[in-house]
Amino acid sequence: MTNMTILNVDDNEPSRYVRSHILSHAGFEVYEAGTGGAALQVITERNPDLILLDMNLPDVHGIEVCRQIKSSPVSASIIVLQISASSTTAPHAKMALDSGADAYLTEPVDPDVLVATVKALLRLRKAERDLSAANERLLQLNQDLHRSNEDLEQFAFAASHDLQEPLRTVISFVGLLQRTAREKLAGAELEYLSYIIEGSRRMRVLIDDLLRYSQIGQRREPSQVVDLNIVLAWTIENLREGISDSAAQISADQLPCVIGDESQLGHVLQNLIGNAIKYAQPGVPPEVHLSAGREGDFWLIRVRDNGIGIDETYFQLVFAAFKRLHGKEVPGTGIGLAICRKVIEVHGGRIWVESKRGCGSTFCFTLPANPIPSPAV
Ligand code: ADP
Repeated sequence: MTNMTILNVDDNEPSRYVRSHILSHAGFEVYEAGTGGAALQVITERNPDLILLDMNLPDVHGIEVCRQIKSSPVSASIIVLQISASSTTAPHAKMALDSGADAYLTEPVDPDVLVATVKALLRLRKAERDLSAANERLLQLNQDLHRSNEDLEQFAFAASHDLQEPLRTVISFVGLLQRTAREKLAGAELEYLSYIIEGSRRMRVLIDDLLRYSQIGQRREPSQVVDLNIVLAWTIENLREGISDSAAQISADQLPCVIGDESQLGHVLQNLIGNAIKYAQPGVPPEVHLSAGREGDFWLIRVRDNGIGIDETYFQLVFAAFKRLHGKEVPGTGIGLAICRKVIEVHGGRIWVESKRGCGSTFCFTLPANPIPSPAV
């Protein structure tokens, strides 16, 4: 308990002297005051860690001094240990504690008990200080993380945006070369050229995806009321070809209205339903069902399919950007679920998957429920 300071407030000089002596001997730095007014003055000048406060002071009552200490933001965190000579202990103790005192002792105070009480209270004070310092560090780290995340997002956005132009040039000129030099090139050279074309097309898809991903944090349409039933109808329209080719059955309960960005939420439904069709069991027509329910202040929306399912090991991984559980045999870049996660998080919700390999998957996400009229679900 080094460097801890105590203000000893007592108008009775001999008893003040004895207590100061006991506390100095125990290793504390002690200041003194004989009146309430002097005590408030020393508090402003010295900002002690603990105040030993006698109830009966000549100018202001100890209870009032305590109230003033605890009501000022600069001194509210100082620990007050009140001491009373009164024989009416219980009412005084209650008054002292009600006025903000942290602890209470009655005369005669045993020196060992005084030192032990002061030490116990200061341990609390230290723990409180450590906690608030740790909290501040955490806040600072959080701000730094937020800033570096924003920088990274800005960088990904700028990089993917600026890479589009030179890549377009490469793709057009390689195409031109393929058309004009076809006769002059040998078989192996033509093969190399087709690898370049294939590679650069793939790169274009990846860059476009990265741009879409980084745009979610950059651009967001002003929030509006979004009827997810309407968004679902558009999504089914957009996926019409895939749905009819795979003979997929899409069904849905009544979905809620939420506040958000319609086009981004459309991407979420499109990615989830598109995946449900893409990752169907071989030879089994996909069945996709959307349901919704209220969970406290949130809507919980579930997209269930009868597809190949996902092993529990990959429940987190599938939401990371460019992470796939499939090779080239299934088209995709691995960005779809990362986009879903970002959109849902930007909207204040969470997304996760529940699944068992071979038994279908259910993608669940939450969105804040707002006080707007929603069809009963
Ligand atoms: P992509 O479909 O382009 O690979 P996603 O980010 O949409 O990228 O999905 C990541 C991975 O999660 C996919 O490669 C796939 O292995 C797995 N996955 C996504 N949705 C489903 C689903 N409904 N059923 C089974 N696996 C899925």
